[in-house]
Amino acid sequence: MKAAAVVGPNAILQTAAALEAQGGRALAARIFDAAGLALRLDDPPCEMVPQGEAAALLRALHATLAPETARRVAGEAGRRTGEYILAHRIPGPVRFMLRIMPARFAGPALMGAVARHAWTFAGSGTVSCETRPRVALVIGDNPLAVDGCDWHCAVFETLFRRLVHPRARVDHPMCCARGNGLCRFEVDTGV
Ligand SMILES: [Zn+2]
Repeated sequence: MKAAAVVGPNAILQTAAALEAQGGRALAARIFDAAGLALRLDDPPCEMVPQGEAAALLRALHATLAPETARRVAGEAGRRTGEYILAHRIPGPVRFMLRIMPARFAGPALMGAVARHAWTFAGSGTVSCETRPRVALVIGDNPLAVDGCDWHCAVFETLFRRLVHPRARVDHPMCCARGNGLCRFEVDTGV
């Protein structure tokens, strides 16, 4: 039997932190309850988690909160995840090299690195990246897709703003949650 697909714990850990920042522990408890993950709040995961848990939590934001609040919390969770990756997953010399490279080289280099670490966020989805005409990441059958994919957009935007260009922007023109077969994230690297 095929092992259940997993993703990194940050979608859960950083969503908990973003919910607590938004509305305290009570709000976090309400959303984790709605996602069927009450135990994860008191006993946070430190290893990979079943992708269904991360997906349930991201969906519970939209099912429970007002649309703009859900999007703000998902975006804040993504920003926190991006900051965690910067601090703990990208070696200092690599950060330094990306920052001093011209954006037109740093953008594709960073996207390649993101794609190589796709096992942390893509689960059972298939991942490919493109470097032209725009730097883009494509996740086929994205298991964590929620309309707008604000969590993903914020993760990628944080990384590209901190390492490639401070005004880098991520567009999400195609989304599994909108009936497309894939989630496409395009990065405007400011060049
Ligand atoms: Zn999407």
